[in-house]
Amino acid sequence: MTISRPLKIYFLPFFAQGHLIPLVHLARLVASRGQHVTILTSPSNAQLFDKIIDDDRAAGHNIRVLIFNFPSGHLGLPSGVENISAASDSHTASKIYMAAHLIKPAVDSIISESRPDVFIPDIMFTWSANTAKEFNLPRIVFNPISIFDVCMIEAIKAHPEAFESNSGPYKIPGLPHPLTLPVKPSPGFASLTEALVEAEKESLGVIVNSFRELDAEYTEFYENLTGRKVWPIGPTSLMVQKTVKSSVSEEEHECLKWLSTKENGSVVYICFGSMCTLSDEQLYELASGLESSGHQFLWVVHRKKTNDEGEGGEDKWLPCGFEEKMKKEDRGMLLKGWAPQPLILNHAAVGGFVTHCGWNATVEAISAGVPMITMPGFGDQYYNEKLITEVHGFGVETGAAEWSISPFEPKTKVVSAERIEKAVKKLMDCGDEAERIKSKAKEVKEKAWKAVQEGGSSYNCLTELIDQLQKLVLVAPAAAVSSHVDLEGII
Ligand code: UDP
Repeated sequence: MTISRPLKIYFLPFFAQGHLIPLVHLARLVASRGQHVTILTSPSNAQLFDKIIDDDRAAGHNIRVLIFNFPSGHLGLPSGVENISAASDSHTASKIYMAAHLIKPAVDSIISESRPDVFIPDIMFTWSANTAKEFNLPRIVFNPISIFDVCMIEAIKAHPEAFESNSGPYKIPGLPHPLTLPVKPSPGFASLTEALVEAEKESLGVIVNSFRELDAEYTEFYENLTGRKVWPIGPTSLMVQKTVKSSVSEEEHECLKWLSTKENGSVVYICFGSMCTLSDEQLYELASGLESSGHQFLWVVHRKKTNDEGEGGEDKWLPCGFEEKMKKEDRGMLLKGWAPQPLILNHAAVGGFVTHCGWNATVEAISAGVPMITMPGFGDQYYNEKLITEVHGFGVETGAAEWSISPFEPKTKVVSAERIEKAVKKLMDCGDEAERIKSKAKEVKEKAWKAVQEGGSSYNCLTELIDQLQKLVLVAPAAAVSSHVDLEGII
């Protein structure tokens, strides 16, 4: 006998763009498969995506947003500052991280009033294991970083002897590929990730924004190491683009119009994600490196003004006359605000991407077949760089100068203009090596596109996840919260 009804699934995204964007994608994909989806979030975070959810509802999907109060007053945060991308200093950011712990009662109260069948929180909500136990809820966590990173973290923890020397490169043993790190990870990063790995332990598995063909060996490595199931369902932005039809039409952004005046593959796109703010010295080196590379560029600058800067003072960090010269030569565009990144990366004019190696940026570039010039900003981004350059070879390193644990920790060393110029030229000057790198980026793009099509690995993984949750919730409900339950074994 087949028992079937849509599942009520509650998603809880963390308050940072790099976490929220892919989990909202995932929620929309699950709703597009006929499940009843609720996204729990705070007022300001809801504003970042509620229009698109309205659009999905208009298309007939059963998806809604439920809002809880953000503990701004309790933390002394200005009203509306509810996302890490709105924080300009580590003090504000740490209050937003604290908020993640304070919302448990609000979320529990929503759950107790209207019980879901399944709970899918971001990994940052470490208390969600207790909520799942209290309400007898199956819980699968969403991990916004890559499984490759988690494997790196575990290998580094297991081999402290690899970092005895005072200078790099440091060889990381015990992983499927021989990998090196140019700089020592800060010891604080391992303890930061410990609590997250701990929270994963009592879940029924981990969903990641990836696809099996990208990091299969590492998924297997992780599954063998932890005994937990990994669900690679991504690239989420590509899956949403291919499978959830949206009627929202945005006016074409100025930068896309500018890109349309350029030749295919001729522009370098530069963006450091939603949180990294580079020091004025680093911005200066970047500008100088771009200028002397001779290549065209579109540069997204997220720079917070310091208190003593008045209106218009924000460009003092640029080399003298830089912006005017670039405009006059029609060579470079500076975008000071939120960029439509996936659209930019998919524009034919973009031939390379100077990236901080955030995981979303990485999978978005992979989906667009754009080779990367890596300049990691903080934390797991130093590991993503290795997946891009050493494992797959679809990127060029600028050469990390120093390890940072957070986007707000000031770096004392800069990546020089010369290094940036050299890396940009290596990719954009069309030598044999550049051609090899570009063709690898094209190959992986094809794999990503296959993965999200009907019958592809990510498409099937989503089908399998929903199927197994149906069986777990509707056929064997008593087993639902056991952390040792093997979803595949439930029939
Ligand atoms: N993003 C964007 N426009 C911007 C900056 C960032 O659309 O101007 C998006 C980007 O496409 C990605 C996310 O924000 O989906 C950032 O996530 P990522 O993991 O790359 O970096 P983080 O911001 O977490 O460091």
